[in-house]
Amino acid sequence: MSYPYAYEAPVSQTLFDRAAAVTPGGVNSPVRAFRAVGGTPRFMVSGAGPYLKDADGREYVDLVCSWGPMILGHAHPEVIAAVQAAVARGTSFGTPGEGEVELAEEIVARVTPVEQVRLVSSGTEATMSAIRLARGFTGRAKVIKFAGCYHGHVDALLAAAGSGVATFGLPDTPGVTGAQAGDTIVLPYNDLEAVRTAFAAHPGEIACVITEASPGNMGVVPPAEGFNQGLADVCRENGALYISDEVMTGFRVSKAGWYGIDGVRPDLMTFGKVMGGGFPAAAFGGRADVMAHLAPAGPVYQAGTLSGNPVATAAGLAQLRLLDDAVYRTVDSVAAEVSGLVSAALSKEGVAHSLQTAGNMFSVFFTGDRVTDYDEARQQEAFRFTAFFHAMLAQGVYLPPSAFESWFVSSAHDGAAIERIAAALPAAARAAAEATA
Ligand code: PLP
Repeated sequence: MSYPYAYEAPVSQTLFDRAAAVTPGGVNSPVRAFRAVGGTPRFMVSGAGPYLKDADGREYVDLVCSWGPMILGHAHPEVIAAVQAAVARGTSFGTPGEGEVELAEEIVARVTPVEQVRLVSSGTEATMSAIRLARGFTGRAKVIKFAGCYHGHVDALLAAAGSGVATFGLPDTPGVTGAQAGDTIVLPYNDLEAVRTAFAAHPGEIACVITEASPGNMGVVPPAEGFNQGLADVCRENGALYISDEVMTGFRVSKAGWYGIDGVRPDLMTFGKVMGGGFPAAAFGGRADVMAHLAPAGPVYQAGTLSGNPVATAAGLAQLRLLDDAVYRTVDSVAAEVSGLVSAALSKEGVAHSLQTAGNMFSVFFTGDRVTDYDEARQQEAFRFTAFFHAMLAQGVYLPPSAFESWFVSSAHDGAAIERIAAALPAAARAAAEATA
């Protein structure tokens, strides 16, 4: 397949060539490399509100929002001011600071099941630490995860993972040993019976079930009615912990994340993305009696040189404090409008698709059937997404460069940005209709 727009970005191409000489694949996170869609990854130089500008000087309406964090749009003045003030006071002290206390208090105040929280620097660290804590607390080894859910690049959780692992169709990752993955039980998403069967087959051995609160890493595949509650119940009945990974959904789909939508109470939760305001800040938290097992209060070790970094906490706190009901209403309505436009444009061209939403997260599967798990997600006609993606990019709309990712909008996506998206859609939908495998 040829990619007609692949070399329209000479400065990005030069930067990519330089990057490839010194960095594997030219990127620091695989999906950024455009391998699933082909062409030259755009090197971005600045962002303002709903727009990104690339190194060739072209502007894009951004529907990735840094994979979720930028819920207020880029360079929000109040977040920038908080960051500038924090930077001026120094960038890292290696001691406790008030900003960490305030950020923890903000999280605890928003998300009822979180009685105590520990700050870390990435979502990967959050899920890795939550699992270690669950194992330490229960004295059990096994972990249940679901195919298509991505919890960062934790060794034990890279089995049948979503996001980049799904994008590249990787069955397994070399470098993860049998010992590291041997205690991971991978089950089909939305299949409660499979979870019950696994618990019956391994009595007293399963430490926890970890699930994305509402998956966005195989595309958007929300939990079936009662699925999350069923997981919580099965875990409680079997003395295991229920870990809800809200790294993507947390503080994005509502003030209290997906918990604010379905109200199912987890034992532990993980957060990242939005709570860092665009900086590396993440967290895990939950039941105080479980968190009490964490060092230095308890024996389960966990630490980080830059955990609770003062600049990152200032950015996260500033962003969270701006996220009131009005902002969520705006983000929800932008998401509804954009997703509706996308679906209408595809329908007009007769392109079979399933528009799937979870609060203000959404994605489009190029299949006529609703997708409920990873196997179904993989059956879509991803080649149509490739054509659609490049046609949108060429018209100045930046989508996630993979058919297996959620799209994200912000409260800064105003009428002008939405008009640009609307103007780009007819040609993109035609490109999707005409695409061949
Ligand atoms: N968990 C979920 C649900 C995610 O979506 C991600 C990242 O996309 C992670 C964990 C890992 O977070 P990070 O990339 O900050 O390590």
